[in-house]
Amino acid sequence: MTSAVRRPTPVLYIGGLGRSGSTLLDRMLGELPGVTSAGELVHLWQRGVVEDQLCACGERFSECPFWTKVGHEAFGGWHAPEVGEARRLQRLVDRNRYVPTVASPLRASEFDERVGRYAELIGRLYGAISSVAGGAIVVDSSKHASTAFVLRAAPTVSLRMIHLVRDARGTAYSWTKAVRRPEVADRDVLMHTHAPWRTAARFDSWNLLLHVLSLLGVPTTFVRYEDLVADPRGEMKRIVTVAGLRPDGILDFIEDDVVTLGTPHSVSGNPMRFSTGRIPVRADDEWRRGLSPRDRATVTAISWPLLAAYGYLRSGR
Ligand SMILES: [Zn+2]
Repeated sequence: MTSAVRRPTPVLYIGGLGRSGSTLLDRMLGELPGVTSAGELVHLWQRGVVEDQLCACGERFSECPFWTKVGHEAFGGWHAPEVGEARRLQRLVDRNRYVPTVASPLRASEFDERVGRYAELIGRLYGAISSVAGGAIVVDSSKHASTAFVLRAAPTVSLRMIHLVRDARGTAYSWTKAVRRPEVADRDVLMHTHAPWRTAARFDSWNLLLHVLSLLGVPTTFVRYEDLVADPRGEMKRIVTVAGLRPDGILDFIEDDVVTLGTPHSVSGNPMRFSTGRIPVRADDEWRRGLSPRDRATVTAISWPLLAAYGYLRSGR
C-alpha cells in the first residue's frame, strides 16, 4: 500500500476479440517462470469482488488465498472503500467508446482526474498481483482495447501487449454458440452470443483500436491464433523472446500438439481456464463446416480489409 519507490509492474496484456484463443495463450504464458496469469482482470471487480465467482483454482474469489493476499496488499482488503471507488470509476472510463477521450492529450479535467485516479488504483492492483506472485510479470487477458488504454495511463505499470487475432469467420462462428460458464457455481449462466455481422463489426473496431495503441508506442507482438495452435512451441519461443525472456529450458511444457498446464489463480475467462494437466492443442476450424455460406459472405464483406492484411484471404479461403 505504501509502495514509495517501486519499479513499474511489468504487465503483458493480451488484446483482441473474445474466442480467439486468448485463454490458451494466457495459460501458456502463466506456465513460464517469473510470469503469473491473472485471467481477465477487467472483470475482477464485478465477477470476483461482487459476485464472488470461482477462481481457476476452484475456490470462490473470497476464499482463494492468492486473491485474499492481493486484496490486502493492494487496498487493505476487498471491502476497502477504494475497491468500491475503482468499480464506479471503471464504468466511467473503461469503455471502448471513451478511448478517443482517454487517448487524447486534451482531456477535460474531470475525465482526466477519473482516468488518473482509476489508473492509480489499478496500478496498485497489478503491483500487488505481481508482488504476491513473487515479483512476476502479470499476464492480463482482458482483451478490451479500452482497458489497455487505461493501463497505458498508469505510471506504475510497464505495459507490453500481445495483439492476438483469429480469422473473423472462426471468431464469428464461435460467438454464435452458447457455452455454459463454469465459474458461476450456483446457477446456469451461458456466455454471451452475437450474430456473425455483429462480431465482424467488433472485429474491425477492436483490432483497429489495438493498432492505435501500438502506433502510440505500446510495445506490441502480433500473434495469429492459427499460427499459435499450428506450432505452439515455435510461436511461444518468438513471443517469449520479444518479451525479453530467454526461451531456453522454459518451454518444455509444450509438445507438438499438447501443453501441460498447472492450476492458475485467474479471474474470469473461457471455461478452458479450469482445465489442468495435459491439454491437446489443435486448430478449431469447425466454422469451415458450421458457418453458413451467407454468414461467411457477410463476415468477409464487413472485415475483408483486416482479413486481407492478416493473411486470411489467401488461396480463396
Ligand atoms: Zn485461486
